[in-house]
Amino acid sequence: MAVVAAASRGLGHASARAIALRGARVAICARREGDAAETARAISEEAGVEVWPCAADMGSAEGVKKFVQGAGRHFGGIDVLVCNAGGPPGGGFDLFSDEDWRRAVDLTLMSAVRLVREALPFMKGRGGGRILFIGSSSVREPLDDMVLSNVMRPAVAGLSKSLSRELAAQNILVNVVAPGTILTDRVMETRTARAQREGVAVEELLRQTASGIPLKRLGEPGEFGRVVAFLASPEASYISGVTLVVDGGRVRGL
Ligand code: NAD
Repeated sequence: MAVVAAASRGLGHASARAIALRGARVAICARREGDAAETARAISEEAGVEVWPCAADMGSAEGVKKFVQGAGRHFGGIDVLVCNAGGPPGGGFDLFSDEDWRRAVDLTLMSAVRLVREALPFMKGRGGGRILFIGSSSVREPLDDMVLSNVMRPAVAGLSKSLSRELAAQNILVNVVAPGTILTDRVMETRTARAQREGVAVEELLRQTASGIPLKRLGEPGEFGRVVAFLASPEASYISGVTLVVDGGRVRGL
């Protein structure tokens, strides 16, 4: 069974859905109980598998504990953990106080640390497992005006690589799946706010973004979710310690 954090919308939702459509039972969380319950109901109905919902904030240690322990106990173990949370806010260095940096550490880095810590006892009892971190292409190439992401995401990639070595002996495979620009609510919201600030149409901004991507379009959440589901599946039995970028070819680095 798979535990997918922050999954009422966007990439977490697409990942949970794709894993469920491959036949696995799934636990999901969102901050609001109604969102978690509604998403679980919809995925369960479509995929025909049990989906266990939980209201929990991935920015707090208590929230992570409640979700993972609840899921592990409900299903009697954990095979797959997908670490995800809301992303850090955009902006340059001058914009952020110590408190903003601390919040970003809690939400992006510490949520990943805590999710793994809580899930490992449930995974080790199963003779192996998969840990996947939803990251960002900023792991490979810093994004303009996204300093918090540019610092926090590589930290999580370092965690992933370290864990891939530490946990290999226990048959636990650990990877990062790093989105470029996938058209989720978050992307629409950030682009809409920028369009209003700059006095341009949001469609124009999306067109500009797409023109900088070799495939000339933004990604669909389903295209991302299916990559997560593949890495979580028995087919991906010899892949560990990688960062797989899903970005339509945008990152230029090798
Ligand atoms: P989204 O806003 O569309 O969805 C985020 C989901 O996380 C929602 O279900 C929301 O309710 C939930 N969530 C947010 N904060 C939470 C918290 N503290 N506790 C529990 N649930 C929480 O965002 P998305 O586009 O799916 O992005 C997911 C992650 O991927 C983010 O960290 C984002 O920064 C990162 N990312 C996304 C893209 C992209 O193109 N979409 C690119 C790079 C990185």
